Amino acid sequence: MGRLLFALICITTSGYLYAQDKIGEICKWDFDKDCAVALTFDDWLTTHPTIVVPALQERGMTATFYVITKDLNQNTIKQINSAAELGNEIGNHTITHPSSDVNIAKEARPAKEQLDAALVSQQAITFDYPYGAFSNETIDSVRNSGHIAARGVWPPSNYRYNFAPNDNEYYNLRTVSVGGDGVNTTIDFAKHLTKVVNGGGFITYLYHGVGKSGDYANIHKDSLYAQLDTLKSLSDKIWITTVAEAIKYHREARCASLSGIEIGNVNPDIYIIALIDTLPDNVYNQPLTVKVYNQGETFCEVKQGDEICPILYQTNEYVMFRAIPDGGNISLKRGHWDINSVQNIDNIATISVKHKTIFVTTDTHASVVFYTHTGKILSKQTGTCSFSVTKSGSYIVTVNGLSKTIVIN
Ligand SMILES: [Zn+2]
Repeated sequence: MGRLLFALICITTSGYLYAQDKIGEICKWDFDKDCAVALTFDDWLTTHPTIVVPALQERGMTATFYVITKDLNQNTIKQINSAAELGNEIGNHTITHPSSDVNIAKEARPAKEQLDAALVSQQAITFDYPYGAFSNETIDSVRNSGHIAARGVWPPSNYRYNFAPNDNEYYNLRTVSVGGDGVNTTIDFAKHLTKVVNGGGFITYLYHGVGKSGDYANIHKDSLYAQLDTLKSLSDKIWITTVAEAIKYHREARCASLSGIEIGNVNPDIYIIALIDTLPDNVYNQPLTVKVYNQGETFCEVKQGDEICPILYQTNEYVMFRAIPDGGNISLKRGHWDINSVQNIDNIATISVKHKTIFVTTDTHASVVFYTHTGKILSKQTGTCSFSVTKSGSYIVTVNGLSKTIVIN
C-alpha cells in the first residue's frame, strides 16, 4: 500500500516543482550539461559546405545553417541535404532576403514550404529574420507557419535558463555576431561561453563569411577552427547543438513531467514510469535526459517501449538516461551495472599515437574505422588494430560508431 501511495503522489509531480517523494528529475539540458550553445551560419555562402561543414564534422559538432530559398538549385539542395545528414540543422531565412518586417512575414510560410520540399531528412522549424527585422506581426507569421523559434541579431541580454519568460522571446533568440563589427578574437568569443556556463542558459553565435575575403563579415578559417576548438574544449559543460534541438529540449523540459506507473509493487525488480509533455509529438521528439532515483540499488537496463535507452551515468543516487516525452512507458530493470558499459569511446577503446601511427586497443569484435578530417574513409578494421598516416593533421577514429579526433603532429 505504501508503494501505491508513493506512485499516486508521483503522478502529480512535474518538471520543476516536485512533491517531496519524487521519483527523479528532468535535466535542464541534454546530458545534464550546464548550458547550451548553437552556432548559426547565415545565407549558405559558398564556403559553408566546403569549409564550415567539414570543420564541424571533424570535431563531432553540429550547427544551424539558415538558407535563402531563392538560392536552392540542384547543387545547393544536394549540399544542404549532405549537411543535414551529418546532424546539422537547415533553417528558414526567407525566399528573397527582404529587408522589411512586412515582407519577411509574407515569405515565412512559402519559404518553409520550399525548404521542406527540398529537405529529405528534416523540416525547417526555426527561422532567421533577414537584417534582424521583425515586429509582433512578423513573429505571428513565423509562429503560425510552423516554426518553433526564430533568431534575431540582438546581442544576449542575459545568460539565464529562463531566457524565454514568454513565448515571443523564443522568436527573438539572441546572438553573438562574429566577424565584421562583432567578436573577432577567440578571447572575445570565449567570454560569452564563460557567461552562459555560469548563467545556465542558451546563446547562439552568428557567422556569415568564413575563409573567403569579400564575403560579408568574413573571418579567416583559422579563426573559425580556433573558436570551434575553444567551444569543444568546454563540451563537458556546454551542450553544443542546433537551434532546433536546444529549443525543442527547452520547451519540452519546462512542461514535461515524470511519474511512476508501477514502482516495484508488482515486480520489485521492475519500475515502470512515464515521461509526458503537453506539446505536439510530431515536432517535439527531442529526447530529454532524465535522472531516476535508484535508492542505492542499481538498474541494469532501461527501455522505452522496445527501444533500449543507453544508461549515460549512474551513481548510488540516480540512473541517468535519455527518453522521449510521450514516447511510451519507460521500464527500468534492477540489476548489476558496470560503469564500463557507458557509451563513451574511452570506455570501449584505448587510442594512442606513436610517430604517424594510430593504435587502437579494443574488443575483438569491435568495428574500427579511420577517417580523414573531412570524413573520407581511410581504413575499416576489426578489433585491436593500427593505421599509419602519411601526413600530419587531424584524423577521426570511430569504434562501434563512437568517434574521437586524433591529431598527428
Ligand atoms: Zn542573411
